[in-house]
Amino acid sequence: MPGGRALSVAEEIVARQEELRAVWPGFWPIGQPFMLVDSQATVLYSPARSAPPAGFVPARGPRVAELAGMWLHAGVPPDLDIARGRNAHLEYDADGDVVTAVRVGDDVAEAIELLFHEQFHVFQRSHFRPTLPSAPVEGAPLDSVELARLDELERATLKRALAADPAHVGQVARDYVAIRIRRMSGQPDSVVQAEHGVERTEGSTQWVGMRMLTRVQGDDIGSFRGRLSELLNWRPAPASFDVVFDGLPIARRQRLYSTGAAILELLDRLGAPDWQTRLAMGEAPFDILVATISTSSRSRPRSRSARFGERNNNLPGEGGRERLAAAIARAAAS
Ligand SMILES: [Zn+2]
Repeated sequence: MPGGRALSVAEEIVARQEELRAVWPGFWPIGQPFMLVDSQATVLYSPARSAPPAGFVPARGPRVAELAGMWLHAGVPPDLDIARGRNAHLEYDADGDVVTAVRVGDDVAEAIELLFHEQFHVFQRSHFRPTLPSAPVEGAPLDSVELARLDELERATLKRALAADPAHVGQVARDYVAIRIRRMSGQPDSVVQAEHGVERTEGSTQWVGMRMLTRVQGDDIGSFRGRLSELLNWRPAPASFDVVFDGLPIARRQRLYSTGAAILELLDRLGAPDWQTRLAMGEAPFDILVATISTSSRSRPRSRSARFGERNNNLPGEGGRERLAAAIARAAAS
């Protein structure tokens, strides 16, 4: 039986299991089952099984000959109703063993990232405290010129933070927080909460998918940050303002995948303590960032309960106006 693209990708993922399980605590343990489909065959990796599901046979190849738990099915199993287009994935029940199945098309990297992305959503269902559903938001939440300008500055500042050297990343993160708090102050709380919720669920999933793809490809952290920076260039299609999902128009929701992932990368760079656990327990990425730069601020360590307080030198408020102006000027100049 031929082993094509799906089999070689599966081999690569299994060969990198040790690195993959280091990305997020508890996620993608050694032996994590998954399924990949290409134009010739379906590959199931499920080493805990003693026998393959109906229609599957042990996979054979130069490398897989030594790998237990790799099974192959000619074509697509009749009960695997997976689409042919981009982003095709589903959860497949292989005799009670539910696995994420992904179609590997021409864009192999996209398929690998999708596999990790969708499997992380499965992981979130059992390991994340759920985000409360947000109330639907009336109209486009960034429909003023001023809010749209601040959104642009935020993303420019996040890109600067991703590229900053270690000595300056904290300063750029403080600029980002100042600009974003300014924007949030001009929006209803329902919008702010909806953004935090999407950044928490999809931002973390985006970060995990891209980080793990980077490991499978054997790339370094610099190339990961470069790709994340490119993602921050995303611009909405005009029609996507009309469809609302998770309380936000698609046009506004989509950008939160990249801003959420970029904030998590900043938390990682800043060495925020236990940020992954805190996120899983319900804290929004932005709130963790605010707490992190507040406690790491040299000027005045403060309790977390006062982090939005008037006396905070890092944030807008009393004495913060000049700081915000300086942050905006730096962002606009970049
Ligand atoms: Zn998702």
